[in-house]
Amino acid sequence: MSDETAALRRQFPLLAQAGGTLHYLDNAATGQIHEAALDAMVQHERYARGNVLRAGHRLAQTATLAYQRARGQVAQFLNAAHPDEIVFTSGATAALNLVAQAYADLCKPGDEIVVSVAEHHSNLIPWQQLRDRAGVGLRFVPLGAGARLDLSGLRALVGRRCRLIALTHASNVTGAVTDVGPVVEQARAVGAHVLLDGAQRAPHGPVDVRALGVDFYVFSGHKCYGPGGVGVLWGRGEFLDAMPPSATGGGMVERVTLERADYAAPPRRFEAGTPPVAQAVGLGEALAWMSRQDWPRIERRLAGLTARLIEGLLAVPRLHLAGPLDARDRVPVVSFWLEGLHSHDVCQVLDGLGVALRGGHHCAQPLMQALGTDAVSRASLALYNGDDDVDALLAGVREAVRILA
Ligand code: PLP
Repeated sequence: MSDETAALRRQFPLLAQAGGTLHYLDNAATGQIHEAALDAMVQHERYARGNVLRAGHRLAQTATLAYQRARGQVAQFLNAAHPDEIVFTSGATAALNLVAQAYADLCKPGDEIVVSVAEHHSNLIPWQQLRDRAGVGLRFVPLGAGARLDLSGLRALVGRRCRLIALTHASNVTGAVTDVGPVVEQARAVGAHVLLDGAQRAPHGPVDVRALGVDFYVFSGHKCYGPGGVGVLWGRGEFLDAMPPSATGGGMVERVTLERADYAAPPRRFEAGTPPVAQAVGLGEALAWMSRQDWPRIERRLAGLTARLIEGLLAVPRLHLAGPLDARDRVPVVSFWLEGLHSHDVCQVLDGLGVALRGGHHCAQPLMQALGTDAVSRASLALYNGDDDVDALLAGVREAVRILA
């Protein structure tokens, strides 16, 4: 392990405590929490705990300032035009449902939503529900070479009735990063909006939503070295303004009578009830820490590790890789399956060797079907992973084959 990797691991309490006994390669499911996020949450709960955006007493004001500061940190991470474009949710799933429910009101029967066959269920089922409730058509971007999204038929797929294209920014199974440029171009040509599910891209460094040219972006805190129970919806100000709330209740209104409620402006309109304040504070610190890292350097290191991992896996007989073989435009997520062996058994053997990775359909059953398997084992790397983790994984896979085959 390099000095750089060792220094990073020391900043993640669970990894620091585990020493060399844990090879954590399930970062696409949940990353480890950074000490800055954990400390900020503990400090907040100990010294600044109060409800936010409601009371005038000092503690409540301190809590409100901390909560709004976190909103600003998220806005910086995404290069959003204004902190008010940041809505805190309980996670990427909740953020996607929020947008889908709003579109149920904004769409007319016969309108269309475009998603892809590679989506996580969280960016598929809310749109299926919208189809069933609002009579909206669903169309799917297929898989192309190297299990990347095939965008060549976009013009035919995205027609005049398309209201929204909702795609994964990076696949949680193949690691492939979506080429967003042509998607935005085609959306603009027909007046549709673009939503990116950034759950797997955000953990790999700051995102520039304005440079991407998209309209909505979602991600989860627990995959970005922050706490669980918090996530983000970013939306262009004018679009959030036009959206109805999906959840209603306290904190999201200006005035209520027995007959009606006047909703507050975004982001409060979308944050009914007491929000996850400490979690937001922790996420803000995690993203601020991420924003200070040297991402081009980290990317180069992780691309090298990913290439070595792929090369090592391809040397294992009867192993199939799910996704692009090259390191271009991909995040360090590598999925594979072994003929005749179930991924759960493979992962169990690896767990016994101290290597944590996940097996199964990864909440992407349509993608599994497109790949021709029902389950894969997935190794997902984060910035604290090193050569030792890749070596342990490759040795573990060979051992699993020896034991199970
Ligand atoms: N989208 C993608 C691509 C994911 O990988 C995940 C989680 O694995 C989600 C959405 C849902 O995230 P969460 O469970 O944090 O809401």
